[in-house]
Amino acid sequence: MYSVVYRPVVSGNKRNEGLRPSTSNESDAPCLRSTMIQLAGLSVPQLALFTRLLSGLKNDILLVQPARLSAEKAPAALPPSIVEFISRAVGIHQERVPVLWKELKSEVWAMEPAVLGESEEELFRKYGWKLGLTSLTLYPPSPFCLNSACSHRTTLKDCKTRQAVVYTVDKGVMPAHAIRLHCPSCNTTYFPDYFVHSAMRTYYADYMPDYIQIGTHQFIEKKLVSLWTSLLLVAWVSASNFSRVYDMALSGQKEHDFAFKSIGALRRVFETR
Ligand SMILES: [Zn+2]
Repeated sequence: MYSVVYRPVVSGNKRNEGLRPSTSNESDAPCLRSTMIQLAGLSVPQLALFTRLLSGLKNDILLVQPARLSAEKAPAALPPSIVEFISRAVGIHQERVPVLWKELKSEVWAMEPAVLGESEEELFRKYGWKLGLTSLTLYPPSPFCLNSACSHRTTLKDCKTRQAVVYTVDKGVMPAHAIRLHCPSCNTTYFPDYFVHSAMRTYYADYMPDYIQIGTHQFIEKKLVSLWTSLLLVAWVSASNFSRVYDMALSGQKEHDFAFKSIGALRRVFETR
């Protein structure tokens, strides 16, 4: 279970009042927004779910926008796959999603990505995976080229996506997408935890990613590495037994979640280190 929290968003120097009914001395904008949302037939829990899910999909939304658009501003339109996912997850007609996005996009863009609860993760499992959407997408640390000598100033759009499995502490084994961005100007390719330039791999010096790549398609949460190391040093737990403990207690894997045996892959990762 999760608690729904709709965080007020500060826009400029003035707190955005969201759905609170406006008084005669206030702008007509909140009233108009409330009317639009009422017309869309959205309840407060649906509104919270709408904003929370989209706040976690900002990078996915941004990735398909033209490079000339600023990443600081919410795009005018959502990709079709995200419209379909939100429609099914929130339980509203697809035609209403763009209307709501138009009214709420600034608030969603100003939000920090929501930490999703179990029921929200289940929505991704149920409706998102088949559309290629996961709650966890691993991006390079910046949408811009980090090469100070490079003249490329707009967001990087030459992107490739690959499927990955991520081993986490709190959410078990999760499917994810790992994003690779390429700068056409200086020919640098950026991965979630390193970049490649002139055939040389360099790990980000001032950025420790939350997820560390341990195989071609496998990542492990930093917190799980810490747990693994602590159990090894303090409790003398072997790599094999740790992988068994993870399988039994933490993986949270449901039958048929994955087409391949991810836990077996994790065991091989631990045992070869
Ligand atoms: Zn560059």
